[in-house]
Amino acid sequence: ITFMACTDNQNEDTIIYSKIDPINKKVDSLIKIMTLREKIGQMNQYNGFWDVTGPVPNEGDAEEKYEHLKNGLVGSMLSVRGTKAVKAVQKIAVEESRLGIPLIIGFDVIHGYKTLSPIPLAEAASWDLEAIEKSAQVAAAEASAAGINWTFAPMVDISRDPRWGRVMEGAGEDPFLGSKIATARVNGFQGDDLSKPNTIAACAKHFAAYGFSEAGKEYNTVDIGSSTLHNMALPPFKAAVDANVKTFMNAFNEYNGVPATGNKYLLRDILKKKWDFKGFVISDWASIKELVVWGYAQDNKDAAKMAAIAGSDMDMESHIYVHELEQLVKDGVIEESIIDDAVRRILTVKFELGLFDDPYRYCDETREKEVVNSPKHLDAVLDIAKKSIVLLKNENNLLPLKKEGQNIALIGALANEKNSPLGSWRIASKDNTGVSVLEGMQEYKGNDLVYKKGTDVTVGPTQFVNEIEINTADKSEFKDAINAAKAADVVVMVLGEHGFQSGEARSRTDINLPGVQQELLEEVYKVNKNIVLVLNNGRPLTINWADEHIPAIVEAWQLGTQAGHAIAQVLYGDYNPSGKLPMTFPRNIGQIPIYYNYKNTGRPASDKNNPSLVFWSHYSDVENTPLYPFGHGLSYTTFKYENLALNKAIFNSDEDINISVEVSNTGKVTGKEVVQLYIRDLVASVTRPVKELKGFELIKLAPGETKTVNFVLNKETLGFYSNEGNFIIEPGTFQIFVGGSSYTILDTRFELK
Ligand code: BGC
Repeated sequence: ITFMACTDNQNEDTIIYSKIDPINKKVDSLIKIMTLREKIGQMNQYNGFWDVTGPVPNEGDAEEKYEHLKNGLVGSMLSVRGTKAVKAVQKIAVEESRLGIPLIIGFDVIHGYKTLSPIPLAEAASWDLEAIEKSAQVAAAEASAAGINWTFAPMVDISRDPRWGRVMEGAGEDPFLGSKIATARVNGFQGDDLSKPNTIAACAKHFAAYGFSEAGKEYNTVDIGSSTLHNMALPPFKAAVDANVKTFMNAFNEYNGVPATGNKYLLRDILKKKWDFKGFVISDWASIKELVVWGYAQDNKDAAKMAAIAGSDMDMESHIYVHELEQLVKDGVIEESIIDDAVRRILTVKFELGLFDDPYRYCDETREKEVVNSPKHLDAVLDIAKKSIVLLKNENNLLPLKKEGQNIALIGALANEKNSPLGSWRIASKDNTGVSVLEGMQEYKGNDLVYKKGTDVTVGPTQFVNEIEINTADKSEFKDAINAAKAADVVVMVLGEHGFQSGEARSRTDINLPGVQQELLEEVYKVNKNIVLVLNNGRPLTINWADEHIPAIVEAWQLGTQAGHAIAQVLYGDYNPSGKLPMTFPRNIGQIPIYYNYKNTGRPASDKNNPSLVFWSHYSDVENTPLYPFGHGLSYTTFKYENLALNKAIFNSDEDINISVEVSNTGKVTGKEVVQLYIRDLVASVTRPVKELKGFELIKLAPGETKTVNFVLNKETLGFYSNEGNFIIEPGTFQIFVGGSSYTILDTRFELK
């Protein structure tokens, strides 16, 4: 018999459920007629192995995967290459397997599908939740037309270590900002109705604490205490659950000696029980198989058992569930209810996506042509690209550049790059390029513009490779660059990392400017001090020398398709920068991890002038402060903060605390400011950070204009997680701080009874 799931024109024998049944009833009806093997098939995900023409060359086990697909033993595929190929694999699942259950098609749509937004860390620097949500909508609209209905994003891992290559993919170091951004991204991808054809399921990853890998080394051990787990790592995941995210992904790391993929405490106790998460959990790539390598499981069978019992519902490319689970259930080692629970979760999302109504609804080549790189999408990514730029330094008003009568020398290989600004995690670059800074600046015709490369960023491999990256030492083009700089009024140097120097498996022990770029900068500085340094990078860099010498520094990350336009508009003052750092910039590598929400010690830096205390917490060769603090970012105008006020001085724990502050634009141009509110819980049963972000507001002010900004603190923002993971709020004194960065300007305090 061919069971087609729910169509109107089937004969009675094959109707499994009625179209008007609620989803949970449809799922139950379907599960009832599935064999154990078919259920396990839903828990199996394969990498794209099938092209329109047949098996993809070099894709391991393509024949077995094909057999499994025909036999209903594949529930999902990832990274299927292109709309036609998605249609082809979906057709096999729907028409050749016994029950015709459609596949859910996953892809790493991290910062756009073809029209690329800034890398996620850059977007976080906008602090503009609306623009971030919009950017995820653009990504969803394009990906969904091209057959994809599930993205492995957002990555909500908090990280304090810029050596870790994946900081480019997250929202930085702060759990409050990270939670807001997690919500915005989930909302952007999923929209208000998952069944719409232009929305896709999101995936909060990597659960949990992956960003705390020791020494920032990729896939390394994580060894954090429960206070850090609950207060720093978990909040953005909780926010994603509250935003109704449909899926979660395991992390590659362990927590407390238990690999995340087999971690029942994380997956069952916290995620599925405590947070009542109703979606499903996908392993990370082969992470079930890796339980054996960890020395945590005896063999593949043991690994399957541990992962399934822990709560990993779908196996990404380990091929272990499909081979091992059936026997484990038959032997009574795993209860079938565990399988049923996983399948129920997976099928529910498929129903919600509307895949049972029309399995091809996401393969819409007409819509794909219409939306991919459409003017509307290009505008949206340009908008967020501008908002993501952070002005780190601007002495003598070197910026903005004048629009006429300046001779400008543009120097640096990254100034002429159309590929690197797209950053890590994007569709192959052949058919997808960005706008270079050179192109962006050439649109301003009033100045003489000379371009010289100076040097390359790296030579050799820059795309997913296993070799150690090779930084170029070639200085043969220094001379040309120096001569151009000599003749210029202003030098714009675009330096930093290549787009593939950050991202997965791109950890670095040296986060200075790679190669001989620092030397080039210093040589150019000798002949012309009017330098605007534009940084392209996927992580904070240690640019101490530049900060000491270079008058203007612009953090321009990797800004995606419209990078060059965004940067040119900021340099020429057509857009007044308003970005703020979502991650601390260290002075040197030895300061890492360095972050704004650190804990006090018994011997804090504030005691350093106490002559009797020489043994205070510090290094003897560098000051304790970072180069640029979290929340830092300048504007072409200036802002004044005044009159921080509270509605009362003493509050009950269930009362709202109303805070107001006046912010004025004291400069000459209109500008936007991110007004930031921090708290400190002075005494608690578990020591609390010296500052914690608990509110922010993005405001726009004309010259001379003043606005009153209001914040509300309440139980949710004043409480914290105990070491047991319980949310508690304790009475006592709280300090509050307000300003335009974590180096705040105003402060006051109140009592909580
Ligand atoms: C990464 C995930 C990603 C997956 C699929 C893994 O290596 O850690 O974040 O979603 O690959 O591409």
